[in-house]
Order: sequence, then C-alpha cells, then structure tokens
Amino acid sequence: MTDGRNRKPSVQTRTAQALHYVEEETGAVIPAIQPTATYARDHNYSTRKPYWYRRDGSQTTQQAESILAELEGAGDTLLFSSGMSACTAVIESLAPGAHVVAPEVMYHGVRQQLLGYEAKGRLTLSPYTAGNLEELAAAVRPGETALVWVETPNNPNWEVTDIAAAAKIARDAGARLITDCTATPPSMTRALDFGADISFHSATKFLNGHSDVTAGALSVREADAGFEQIAEIRKLQGTVLQSFDAWLLIRGMRTLFLRVERASKNAAAIARHFDGHEHLDAVLYPGLPSHPGHEVASRQTGGQIGAMLSLIVKGSEQTAIDVARFCEVFYPATSLGGVESLIEHRKTVSGEGFPVHERLLRLSIGIEDADDLIHDLEQALARAAR
Ligand code: PLP
Repeated sequence: MTDGRNRKPSVQTRTAQALHYVEEETGAVIPAIQPTATYARDHNYSTRKPYWYRRDGSQTTQQAESILAELEGAGDTLLFSSGMSACTAVIESLAPGAHVVAPEVMYHGVRQQLLGYEAKGRLTLSPYTAGNLEELAAAVRPGETALVWVETPNNPNWEVTDIAAAAKIARDAGARLITDCTATPPSMTRALDFGADISFHSATKFLNGHSDVTAGALSVREADAGFEQIAEIRKLQGTVLQSFDAWLLIRGMRTLFLRVERASKNAAAIARHFDGHEHLDAVLYPGLPSHPGHEVASRQTGGQIGAMLSLIVKGSEQTAIDVARFCEVFYPATSLGGVESLIEHRKTVSGEGFPVHERLLRLSIGIEDADDLIHDLEQALARAAR
C-alpha cells in the first residue's frame, strides 16, 4: 500500500475537479462567474493585484487558464475570445518583415490571416507541404526565420507532422515553433512536451466540447518577453476570453478526457467501417494503418488518434454536398470538437481560393452511438449515389 498522503492526483483527476476547486467562503465546489469589468482600488489607492480591469483578465478567466496550463504542462497560458484572436496576437507580435514558415494547406482562417499580413508587407511567408519535414527544413532560413507554424493533424486532409522533429528544425535555425493541435487536445497531445515553444488550441473545439463558446489558447513552458508582448496585445485589443465563456470552458474541460476518448473510439470505428467503401475514393484518418502518418500520430496521441476524419466521395462535387445534406443524425455544420457529430463540405466553407478537394467531406465525430453515425452515413451515401 502506498501512503495516500504523498500521492499527487493525476491530471485526469485534477481536470475533472477543476483543480480541486473549493470556494473558501462557502465551500462551493463549482467556481462562480465573476462578471465585473472593473475592480475597486484599496484604501491606499493601490490595485488589488492581479486584477484591475477586465481587458487584462478576470479571476474566472484565470481559473480556466490554470486548468488548461495543467493540462498542457505549461508554465503560462493565455485565453482569448477566439482561436483566431490568439493566432492573430502571435502574428502581431512578430517584428516587421519577419520570416514565417507555414503549411500550404492548413486551417483556412490562419492561412488567410498569414497571407493578409504578407500582402501588407508585414511578414514574408514560405510554404511547405503539411507533414513533409524535408520541405519544412528546406523552407526554414537559419538565423532569419522567426516562426515555424505546424498544424497537426492538419486540416482538412489530416496529414501528421512529427512535432519533436519540427521543433529540432526550428530550434537549430533559431526560430520558434508554434503548434496548432486543435484536433488532438492536450488530453492526448501535449505539444510543449514534444518541444513546441507555443502550443495553440482553438478552445472552441474539443477543449470546450459543447459548441457554445469561441475561445483560443496559447501556452508556453515559461513566459518570456515574447509571451508578455502577446499578453499586452491581448490587453490592448481587448481579446481576452470573457468571464461567462471562461466559466463554460471550465465546465467543458472537466469532461475532456471522457469526451475525447469516446469520440476517438467512434471515429476509429467509422474510419474502419468506411475504408474501401464502394461510394468512397478515400477515408483520410491517421488511425488507419495505411495512413502515412499513422506511426507518428499513434505516438503523439498516446494511441488515441483523435476524432477528425475526412471522406473523398465518389461522383461529383454535388454528390458530396448531397451526402452532407442527406444526413439525418450528423449536423451539416462547420466547426469541430463538440459532443455532436458534424459533417461539412469543406470547399463550400473554406471558399474558392483555398486548395481543398472538391469532393471532400470533413467529419467531426462526437460521442453518440457509433452505429447510429455509421447507419446515417450509409443511408446518405446510398441516397446521394442514386
Ligand atoms: N485552428 C484550427 C485547426 C481550427 O479548426 C480553427 C477553427 O475552426 C481555428 C484554428 C480558429 O479557431 P476559432 O474558430 O476558435 O477562432
């Protein structure tokens, strides 16, 4: 028998209990929402640190940040009002003309933002094929590149990048590595442990898990001047996560481990069922042994892989759209990471300028009964093929 007093609860336990939250005054086990926009100074006219004005954060947001920091194994975490505002703060923090290496195909909003900054002469961009480390290494300019952007697994084709290998390439060149592992939250992938300098997540997705919040997170092992600058940008732009949303995020994160495990199992069952299906040209899912990133994905997710996959439908672009609109259990909606399954025709959502297969359907798998999801896709595929 071990002495229970010396046992440190696991991150699963800590997350489920919101870091064993107990309100000092009342004993409440659920944190309250603190909506105040401003904080009164004390009798010496000093601020009662660390709070003074909500644009710089509130205790509700801080509680959510502490839980996420523990999940990430981070020294510091900042929460933003959306994933995009977090990414934009990182881009804003770069020196004028900074060189950035980013995938050619990635989450379209981030790509659009990077291209927009490049068009204004604010940075220079070198692309690489997602998952291709040789191309990534060739795109990096030692001593010049400021930031390497890795999304893994990568929207919407789910290529997998070896984070540790990418971190070495970035480090050797004197660049920082930012990872977007939105599709594999820190219950399965802790990017900082693999060597990322900044771990980004759209917390709108699996971290919150209930499709009722937009939020973005940046985590680092230790806050440095660069991270403080990002915090300053958040403060001056007012893009801090608001208290009500932070409270919902706290509630969502408490079930993260359970939700993601179940959704990943469902996704694996769906991928196995539809692999080689008569109405499909391909199933893109790193959990399939035939996927080029299978081994790295297994290692980086502790074998869980994740709950995102894409289907390339046989027929025409309209056939793919028909499959999405004929679904009755899946919601035909964008986004990902909720407890409910979503299906979307990616080209319709990401727009004409974005390189995506015209017959690609992106599926975000939820926690429903896997057989219901499989049956729904079967009937929609059969109906669309008629
Ligand atoms: N990164 C990825 C991989 C995403 O899927 C998304 C949103 O879909 C974002 C970033 C942007 O996050 P948000 O929608 O929270 O602004």
